[in-house]
Amino acid sequence: CSIIGYKGKNAAAPILVDSLKRMEYRGYDSVGVATFDSGNILVRKGTGKVIEVNRNLNIDQMSGKIGIGHTRWATHGGVTDKNAHPHSACKNNIAVVHNGIIENYKELKQELIEVGHTFASETDSEVIAHLLEIHFSSGNNIKQAMIDTCKRLKGNYAFVAVFQDGTICGARYEEPLVIGVANDGYFVSSDVLGFLQYTDKAIFLENGDICIVDNSKLEIFDFEGRPIAHPITQVAWEL
Ligand code: GLU
Repeated sequence: CSIIGYKGKNAAAPILVDSLKRMEYRGYDSVGVATFDSGNILVRKGTGKVIEVNRNLNIDQMSGKIGIGHTRWATHGGVTDKNAHPHSACKNNIAVVHNGIIENYKELKQELIEVGHTFASETDSEVIAHLLEIHFSSGNNIKQAMIDTCKRLKGNYAFVAVFQDGTICGARYEEPLVIGVANDGYFVSSDVLGFLQYTDKAIFLENGDICIVDNSKLEIFDFEGRPIAHPITQVAWEL
């Protein structure tokens, strides 16, 4: 239902929890965060309100200056801790948060199971993590893995992934995704409210855009890998 990603100079988890609270008006049933620290991806997630899940799991104390967060409005798979996002790939080297519906997830899941992937949830979203893992392992190229994965997905989606080198990526198709450009880092969110308390500079992605935030630089390209240039918009506070 809501997505927030952050890569910058400050501790990510308190920012992500704060952002998820600011986007609560959209309604949701589960909450989760993944952070990247010292080569590891850590995940904490569960059903309930942001304030409750944070109280139980101390999400805002997770370490790392890179992370992704999600509030879920379940469409595929029950409201359970396991079905809460983020979802991880088999080797735990990639974690993904997703808004929307992957319409061809059943056939993708079947195909992935046949080549040895195991699934931890009943969601449609988890296929994204496994597709990224497969395409990344074949070339060690995050950009190509994002392109190859997006080309396999049918339906509507905005997703943000964190990779095990700390790179944050996002893609959108028929669900909103907007980049927040701050002095000391980048945000990737489903809603400007996810970062407006930190920066009013936004780049609105369009359908078929992929973005990569890598070592504090931002790259945007289309599903063919062609670079895209969008203007930075100054967002008004009274939205
Ligand atoms: N379809 C996904 C799920 O059920 C994502 C739902 C959402 O947008 O929160 O987990």
